[in-house]
Amino acid sequence: MNESGVAVRLKDLHKTFGSTHALDGLDLTLEPGELIALLGPSGCGKTTALRVLAGLEDADAGQVLVDGKDVTALPANRRDMGMVFQAYSLFPHLTALANVEFGLRLRGRPRPVGRAAEMLELVGLAEFAGRYPHQLSGGQQQRVALARALAIRPQVLLLDEPLSALDAKVRVQLRDEIKRIQTEVGTTTLFVTHDQEEALAMADRVGVMRAGRIEQLASPADVYQKPATAFVADFVGLSNRLPGRLEGDGVTVLGTRLPLVSPAGAGPDVTALVRPESVDVRPDSDGPGRVLAASFLGPTSRVTVEVGDQLVVAQVTGGRLAELPVGAPVRVEIRPVPVALDTGA
Ligand code: ATP
Repeated sequence: MNESGVAVRLKDLHKTFGSTHALDGLDLTLEPGELIALLGPSGCGKTTALRVLAGLEDADAGQVLVDGKDVTALPANRRDMGMVFQAYSLFPHLTALANVEFGLRLRGRPRPVGRAAEMLELVGLAEFAGRYPHQLSGGQQQRVALARALAIRPQVLLLDEPLSALDAKVRVQLRDEIKRIQTEVGTTTLFVTHDQEEALAMADRVGVMRAGRIEQLASPADVYQKPATAFVADFVGLSNRLPGRLEGDGVTVLGTRLPLVSPAGAGPDVTALVRPESVDVRPDSDGPGRVLAASFLGPTSRVTVEVGDQLVVAQVTGGRLAELPVGAPVRVEIRPVPVALDTGA
């Protein structure tokens, strides 16, 4: 059922609301069939970017190209896009099947009932076709919304926080499901979220946004392991900010030499951003550190250690909490994985 996607290009988009630069030179290219997640703090322009792509908002400057064609001047209803929003947007007086059919009829597509039934099947809701929205759970309603968005075989699928109103378990189930379906139909997809786990789990590439533009666009693994800037390192995952000494192409932190994710200019005194999972803590009666706090998180535990006047947060496997009680003397070791430096950018 791969309906193969098209390339989408957002080119130097600018949009201001009063004195707010919601988009400030946004550039983004989605490859055919790709799912890109826009991730970033509240107000960084994610939704505005999606709305400009949809044609729901006009940019002040810049271009939107879909499959090589300039659609910047086209209104939303002339763009070939399917959308799913955070709020359940189903018609309450229509059944699941009729909701999916609705968009097809609106566009005068042939065989709406057959296609709608096919789409409900795709999202695993064939037996719920006759139910009304109030008879469906939140997760099921969002599946219907997804079926409706995909029924018209859109060139582009736009998802704006579609999971954020759902409870945690359903959210994880549905995100895996959306990813499976998106891969199966092959529709180029822009997904907006402020949830980093969601972005990392679903996206082919993650675009981390800051103040109206993309700060880094890379695979989930690279965004996490090789953050281009301190902002990305801070926004995606947690980081310790530890003093280090820059020497050649590495930095020495708490006595361990660590490689850098990207070459650094300044120095020699720098601040290194070290992930808690790169820090190990071992009980050691001669160790220079003391456990200040420890919390059990299930599969992992988080331990805060004081070494001199430095606080270091470590992530260890959940079961190891017993050997690291508050007050225990410990030794801190940092694994030599590449780290980013806080350049103040
Ligand atoms: P969130 O995660 O909170 O939804 P976002 O990254 O999606 O945030 P946008 O909704 O794109 O951010 O908003 C970007 C900026 O533009 C914000 O400062 C917002 O207040 C402003 N903004 C967005 N839409 C409007 C509008 N219609 N009128 C005025 N200001 C707006």
